[in-house]
Amino acid sequence: MLQSINKIALLTTGAYENSWYLMRKLTQQFPQVLIIITRNPPSYKQRLSFFIHSVKLTIKIILRYILLGQKNYLPVQPPSFSGVICSDDINAEIVYNNIKNFSPDLICISGTKIVSDRILKLAKLCLNLHHGFVPYYRGVSSTDWVSFQRNFDYYYVTVHEAVTALDSGPIYAEEQIKPYLFENYDSFKCRIKLFGDEIMLHVCQNLQTIKPVPQPDNVSCHNYRHKEKAEGFSIHAKREYESNDFRRYVINERDGGEGRLFHIVNRYLQKREERYALQPGLYIVNYHEIINHDDLKSDYKIPSIFTSIEKFMLHLKSYTNDFETVSMSDGLKLLQQGKVQKNRYLVITFDDGLSSVKDVLPYINAIGVKPTIFVSSEPLLKMKPLINHQELFCSRYSKYCKSVDTKMLRNKYQLLLREGYKTANCKDEFVEFVSNAYLSKESLRQMIYENKVEIGSHTSDHIQLSDIDYEIQYKKIYESHKAIERLLNTSIPYFSFPFGKLHHRDYCSEYIASYTAQHYFSCNGGINQTPGINGAILRIGIHNETVPALRSLLSRQRFR
Ligand SMILES: [Zn+2]
Repeated sequence: MLQSINKIALLTTGAYENSWYLMRKLTQQFPQVLIIITRNPPSYKQRLSFFIHSVKLTIKIILRYILLGQKNYLPVQPPSFSGVICSDDINAEIVYNNIKNFSPDLICISGTKIVSDRILKLAKLCLNLHHGFVPYYRGVSSTDWVSFQRNFDYYYVTVHEAVTALDSGPIYAEEQIKPYLFENYDSFKCRIKLFGDEIMLHVCQNLQTIKPVPQPDNVSCHNYRHKEKAEGFSIHAKREYESNDFRRYVINERDGGEGRLFHIVNRYLQKREERYALQPGLYIVNYHEIINHDDLKSDYKIPSIFTSIEKFMLHLKSYTNDFETVSMSDGLKLLQQGKVQKNRYLVITFDDGLSSVKDVLPYINAIGVKPTIFVSSEPLLKMKPLINHQELFCSRYSKYCKSVDTKMLRNKYQLLLREGYKTANCKDEFVEFVSNAYLSKESLRQMIYENKVEIGSHTSDHIQLSDIDYEIQYKKIYESHKAIERLLNTSIPYFSFPFGKLHHRDYCSEYIASYTAQHYFSCNGGINQTPGINGAILRIGIHNETVPALRSLLSRQRFR
């Protein structure tokens, strides 16, 4: 681990905004910086035309911030190039000698060709800024490859140790970035690069506290090369990014200043549902709690993770009309064989291991398929409820007992979260209500024995995975998965992330998920169409929609 950073050598192109930004910021923030660029510094004419372009761009950026709340970077002007060494070959003798004489603590690389091993050996640590999610997207043009494959959840920037094998070193930071509504492709790509600079600066300033995470070595990684790009590759990538009438925006992601706008767009699209036909592909729908109609007469604001039994039956009927319903294992086989590119298949899944699934299981089995149930280990092993059900259970319970105070129920729920049902008073009706809301190990074993369901895991305690350390995530994802396998005495091929938004997980969650189970699943929308795309398999969260709203939701999904 590096103690303190005084001398940094920056190897970059010197030709673009992101390069200039890094040159400026590093020189401001560190005592000694040696800069080596591979392109000639801009001429006065180029500087002037860039300045005029910047004025127009600044107005646009400010307007977007005011109207849509979209934060962006203001255009960066070229810095002074005094003292900067320019060599079009990054591995030239002059570069080597200059770095050697400078003797840096750290080498930062951004945008150059592959740096030779002997240069990498000149500092204790070399960091590379990569504009893609590794190991899935190594090599060139990651953003374009993501767009080309419509793998829109994988726009990322990565700072990793630069080692001899391309883009394969341990990760110092890996951050996801999403397109803004109505953001054109070029602006988005520019924003990704400047965002990458910020992440690189953050890493340089916090090296003492960062614990690098190795890349998983069991997943299929790919080194993308220029020669792999078919003719018109970048046009095609741009077209995919701009296609689909907003469908690349995840329909249930409505964060930040764009929230209201998402809502309006969503409503507008809903009205035009007849414009869209259902695409071919593998649809994996996801439910949570199934409740009786009576429970719905609620005055409380409860999270929308429930579906009434009546609605579910209507959904089921609609699925059998519009799709060929299949079990997960068959659906994934069809996806791998490329058969879902022509027909529509649908898989039903339930998250959180709630016992209400038993009310609808016979009807699902009756259409010849097994649903997949994703279970968490805490309710099974530690007899504790899950944190995300507090409001749902408290408000449902207060339906039965009008006299109870919800605040008191919440306190009791908190106690159950800490200590489990065993230590709490078992005779308490609320405790019994909560404990009965989860599938027991006996009923799960029975369902597996009778071949009625397929099983996946869903972390130990259903907390938000992003922002917690790799080691803790490992326990919650991997160790919990293994514990459930032991408990149910079966191997479990699936894992699903808790919660339905992209920012609820991070790269550590992805890495651990990739070696925990054969297949891992997200739930922020989308239809699976193309075989062999890396990353989480897409699922669509279903709530208490009417049949027309359900059909509209399914027909508006992006496809990958
Ligand atoms: Zn869940």
